[in-house]
Order: sequence, then C-alpha cells, then structure tokens
Amino acid sequence: MSEACVFCQIVARTSPASYVAESAGAVAFLTIGPIRAGHTLVVPKRHVVELPDAGASELAAILDLGSEVARRQRRALGSTGETLFLASGVAGEQSVFHLHLHVVPRHDGDGLGLTSWWQERMKSAARDTLESIAELLRGGVAPHSSPIAD
Ligand SMILES: [Zn+2]
Repeated sequence: MSEACVFCQIVARTSPASYVAESAGAVAFLTIGPIRAGHTLVVPKRHVVELPDAGASELAAILDLGSEVARRQRRALGSTGETLFLASGVAGEQSVFHLHLHVVPRHDGDGLGLTSWWQERMKSAARDTLESIAELLRGGVAPHSSPIAD
C-alpha cells in the first residue's frame, strides 16, 4: 500500500467511494468522473502503478472482477455491451498512478462514437514497417531509425 495513493485508501476503506464489488484481489467502485452512468473502476488491491508492473495475479483479478462488474451493469442498468480502458504511464494519459481498469457500460446507439474517434486516427501501415516493429518487439536488433516515430 502507498499511503499517498487515493486508490489504496479506497481499497483500505479509509477514503469514501461508491463500492460496486470486491474480490480477494481487486475492488470495484464508481468513478467520480463517469462518461456513462455506472462507469466503474476496477483496481488491484496491491499497489501496482503501471501495466508493466502488474503480475498475472493482479491482471487476472481486475479482469475477473471487471467481468463481474459487466454482468452487474447489464443486469441492473440494462447495458448491452462494455468498453474497457486502461491507461498506463504518463504518455498513456494515466491519471491516478495505481493501475485501474475502466468498465464503461454501453447501450446500442449511445453515441459515444468510439469507432469514429478511432477511425479518424488510424493510419495504414506497410507490411515491411509492421515486420520491423514486430522484430523489435520479439527482441531483435533495432533498425537505424525507430519505425514507431511519426
Ligand atoms: Zn495505490
């Protein structure tokens, strides 16, 4: 536990939160900044900062409880789908530095517009560029210039 971490305080129940569910390894509570009613955060009980810091047990715990949250959202709120977000690191626009999974309940035609947002930012990639990046990720030799720099 990190004394200064608000999510650790929520896990320890020393800070207020609107709790939704709890398991042995994770806690779920409503975000104070929902983009849809019922928007829930799922955090591992152990203080883990970013995605690369997380072990299999923390990841399993947040996804398993996230699935339970989705079932509860569908049952109680009538949602018919979910969008999950997990921001990791400053560059990933993580806001609270205790790993957290957003479970956003979705309804058909709810207008969130994620697909159009995504499509506006998609770039086509040539096969040789994809292969170069994949080689780096497999642990191969780095090329002279980074294939992921824009
Ligand atoms: Zn924490």
